[in-house]
Amino acid sequence: MRIPIKDVTPETERAVVIGWINEVRDLGGLAFYILRDRTGFLQVTIVKKKAPEAVIAAAKEASRESVVRVTGSVKATEKAPGGRELIPETFEIISRAESPLPLDVSEKVPAEIDTRLDNRYLDARRPRVAAIFQIRSTVTHAVNSLLYEEEFINITTSKIVAAATEGGTELFPLAYFEKEAFLNQSPQLYKQMMMAAGFEKVYEIAPIFRAEEHNTTRHLNEATSIDVEVSFADHHDMMDLLERVVVRAYTSVAESCGPALEALGIELAVLKTPFPRITYAEAIDIAALSIEEDISYGDDLSTAAERAIGEEMGEHYFITDWPTEIKPYYAMPYEDNPTVCKAFDLMHPRMELSSGAQRIHEHDLLTTQIAAKGLSPDSFSFYLQPFRYGMPPHAGWGLGMDRLIMTMLGLQNIREAVLFPRDRHRVTP
Ligand code: ATP
Ligand code: MN
Repeated sequence: MRIPIKDVTPETERAVVIGWINEVRDLGGLAFYILRDRTGFLQVTIVKKKAPEAVIAAAKEASRESVVRVTGSVKATEKAPGGRELIPETFEIISRAESPLPLDVSEKVPAEIDTRLDNRYLDARRPRVAAIFQIRSTVTHAVNSLLYEEEFINITTSKIVAAATEGGTELFPLAYFEKEAFLNQSPQLYKQMMMAAGFEKVYEIAPIFRAEEHNTTRHLNEATSIDVEVSFADHHDMMDLLERVVVRAYTSVAESCGPALEALGIELAVLKTPFPRITYAEAIDIAALSIEEDISYGDDLSTAAERAIGEEMGEHYFITDWPTEIKPYYAMPYEDNPTVCKAFDLMHPRMELSSGAQRIHEHDLLTTQIAAKGLSPDSFSFYLQPFRYGMPPHAGWGLGMDRLIMTMLGLQNIREAVLFPRDRHRVTP
């Protein structure tokens, strides 16, 4: 029976392991084959005078990154990784890798991100890369657990839609029989409709599609969004929930991803709560003091502005009370000052992680706001109708999973946090 490499200890007597050949060192009379599986590394030591002929012959044929099955006895030795080595009795090539390899898995030769992504299956054999996706899996699990504990209903909504969520040109058109259709840029309208359906607390972790042309290290054309919507809640409740979700993600990773964090060589930040909350007006003041470019109340926050404010804040923080004009039509304006709305962004010092708001739940106000953004209420009739038949007050947010992982692990490029990223220039693999 095959055992995982991490379970081969200096006390193990005999072992059958299957793994990839990470590295070969042939010293003449002695050869070392370092085997790798997803749990670790194991040195197979072949003493040519003593090893069976068949073992020597097979090992000679085995190229780097081939899959091999080795059986033998285990010996304690301080010189090998993990303090043990395997002395082979049988050595069998299960799947031979061609040479040369398109990418050096052992990381002796550094590779550009494009080469890595072109050969993602090889890139992901690297423990450092695999660690990112182990952690991402843990984060997904942690978010699911928290939201189930809080009695959310996990929903799945269609990614093929007829109308833009927020208007604009950021849509990918689709060949859909005789109709015009697009890939959805956000589940916003659908999760709000489920508030009309009385589900009260819903969430979805799914792709969003943005046909944005910009090519940055924090935007992709297909991203994963954690989207929630809650009835009878306001923007304060939703900031509290967002904080719980982010904190749970970090603590779960800290508790259960020790080896992965070690492979990445990082120490996870310990988050202090509550996250500070500043208003948009305060954020603008901070930015105006520290950046070159002109910025004033009513402007979107540029990348430079986000960075400057992030530097000042130094930790996760919320920006609240945005001008109604620069937030989507569905954000609820304050009753006493409708030029400001109950919207918020969650920021990591490096970038925006999430946007949310209390939503408008009155049909007529929503219709007015859609028109005020230059959109046609007619194309939103499927969305507007539920607001006429008992729509509860509600609030929600969308949190970018890829950016959450990127900032958590200090990755330089969002592409590192996504297995098969989609950008302006990349649709394969
Ligand atoms: P930005 O201003 O940074 O481009 P946004 O305000 O357009 O983001 P939202 O529509 O508010 O993004 O989406 C909510 C969250 O989804 C964002 O805070 C971000 O974490 C994530 N997100 C949105 N667009 C992208 C994208 N193109 N690539 C990666 N993540 C994204
Ligand atoms: Mn946003």
